[in-house]
Formats: sequence, C-alpha cells, structure tokens
Amino acid sequence: MNMQNNIYVISGASSGIGKSCVDLLLEKGATIIGLDLHEPEIKDNNYQHFITDVTDENSILSAIKEIEKQFTIIDGLINCAGIFANSKPLYDITSDEWNKVISTNLTGTFLLSKYISKIMIKNMKGKIVNISCIRSKIFRPNMADYAASKGAIVSLTSAMALDLSKFNIQVNAVAPGFTYTGMTSKSFDNPEIRKMSENLIPGGKIAMPEDIGKVIIFLLSDSSDYINGETIFVDGGYGILK
Ligand code: NAD
Repeated sequence: MNMQNNIYVISGASSGIGKSCVDLLLEKGATIIGLDLHEPEIKDNNYQHFITDVTDENSILSAIKEIEKQFTIIDGLINCAGIFANSKPLYDITSDEWNKVISTNLTGTFLLSKYISKIMIKNMKGKIVNISCIRSKIFRPNMADYAASKGAIVSLTSAMALDLSKFNIQVNAVAPGFTYTGMTSKSFDNPEIRKMSENLIPGGKIAMPEDIGKVIIFLLSDSSDYINGETIFVDGGYGILK
C-alpha cells in the first residue's frame, strides 16, 4: 500500500478510531488534515488540525476554505466524528437530544462528504470511508437515536457510492463492534462490563482503535478498488453469535 505523499481528511481525528487512522497514515508518510471539536495531542509536520464542528455547515465551510488554499487533491476522507446514544428509551428522548445524535453521526457525514467530494470530482479520484456500527443491525434497548444514525450510514454509503462512482470515487463503511476509545473507555474500564462484553465476542477480546483503523486504511488503499458501496463489519465475530 503506497500512500506516501497522499492527502487525507479525517473527522474525529483527536480521539479513538479517528486518531488511530491519523497515526497509521502518518506512519505511511501521508499528509493528514484533522478536523475535530478538540485540539489533538498529535504533533507532526505532516499533520494539521482545524477545530471544526461537523454539525455546523459554516464550520465545515471555513475548514474547506483553508484546505482549498493549500491542497488541490484530496485522496481520501474518513468520517469518524461521532457521539453515542443518549441512552434513553425512545419515549424519553427529546427532539434536541435526537437531533444532536443525528446531526453529528449522519448529517456531519453527509456535509463533509458533500464538500470533500467536490474536490475529488475535479480530480476524478478519491476514497471515502464512513463509520457505521454493529448497532445498525443488532439492537439493544435505549439506542434508538444511535441505531437510526448508524443504520442510515449503511444506506447513505451505498447511495453515495452510486452518485460518485462515475467520478472514480469509491465509498465504503466499516461497522465496528466493541472498541476501546474515548467513547467507551469508562464502560470498558469497569472489569465486569469488560468481561461481559468480551464473553459476547468469539475471539474473546474487544477491539483496540487500530484494529478498526487497519481496515479503514485498507478501504482507502488501491487494494480495495473493486469494493464499492459496502459496509464491512469489523466486530471480532460478534455478529455471528447474535
Ligand atoms: P471517540 O469519542 O474516541 O472519538 C470521536 C471523536 O469525534 C472525538 O474526538 C470527538 O471530539 C469528535 N467529535 C464528536 N462530535 C463532533 C463534532 N460535532 N464535530 C467534530 N468532531 C466531533 O469515539 P470513537 O469510538 O473513536 O468514535 C468514532 C466513530 O466510531 C463514531 O462514529 C462511533 O459512533 C463509531 N463507533 C465506535 C464504536 C466503539 O465501540 N468505540 C463502535 C462502533 C462505532
């Protein structure tokens, strides 16, 4: 996989799966533009960061303006920014709570993809990777908001692939299982929850961010050129035991 000198945009770059993608791509000599609500710990000459809120179109547009000043080619986009469920039953979720999950996980992916794909279209080349979740098809109580956002990512990914394939842009998604990140560390640091979760996985361990990141990097690489519109479940076999 030669990704040296390629340019990638990653949302949610400051933590978890997004941060692992930054690290893996920097190791390959790529240039990374990270977008996140928070400053990253990453310090690397090939990394630059824009504080961006993916739920806010103006915030995305100001990042795009800066990106376009410096780059004419974007080789890939990873839509990693995301938040978890409000953890309430359907009948207790307020409209504001619902909108926050949908606007971060779904609309954020749409907006960033819309503007980055315009740059890719000019170059007739690009790869986009969206992030779904096992909760797009295996459900648990109190996750209606999150499940809806992640199920929609599966559909959006296929629909985006259709619109963009004539421009030689491939769009795929990964659907991670239990992964130790900023989103989940509080739960998985509890030995009881960790054990209970690991018992649900045939391989017996939860994923680390790079377990997911490596599959995302594969989907950005030339090795995946003939995969398009797919969601790949990366869950250690959780789905086959459901
Ligand atoms: P994380 O909390 O470690 O990282 C998410 C990052 O997104 C954070 O840096 C956060 O600041 C950023 N972010 C949140 N809202 C944002 C916004 N409005 N604008 C810009 N940035 C924003 O969590 P993670 O687990 O690495 O999550 C990455 C993706 O993976 C999410 O879409 C999540 O739903 C998905 N996912 C995670 C798991 C898991 O078990 N951790 C499982 C399946 C799917």
